[in-house]
Amino acid sequence: MIGGIGAGAAPDVCSRAACRETAVWRIDWQNPRIHTGDRWKTWLACDEHVDYLREFLGARSFPVRVESFDVAEADS
Ligand SMILES: [Zn+2]
Repeated sequence: MIGGIGAGAAPDVCSRAACRETAVWRIDWQNPRIHTGDRWKTWLACDEHVDYLREFLGARSFPVRVESFDVAEADS
């Protein structure tokens, strides 16, 4: 289960604003000024926006982990 992604949005949709593509990547990230220890935020991304979102976070020097996202796995 993944929480905290766009209120009301389907759980497997890209986190990029206005994008409705099915997510195939998950991006786990931290804001070191807010998050401590093992608290990671998770965004989902389609193929087109994974680079945009990763660079958005990278530009802020946030720790970022990108992994492939499997909808079936997330549902189980
Ligand atoms: Zn997208």
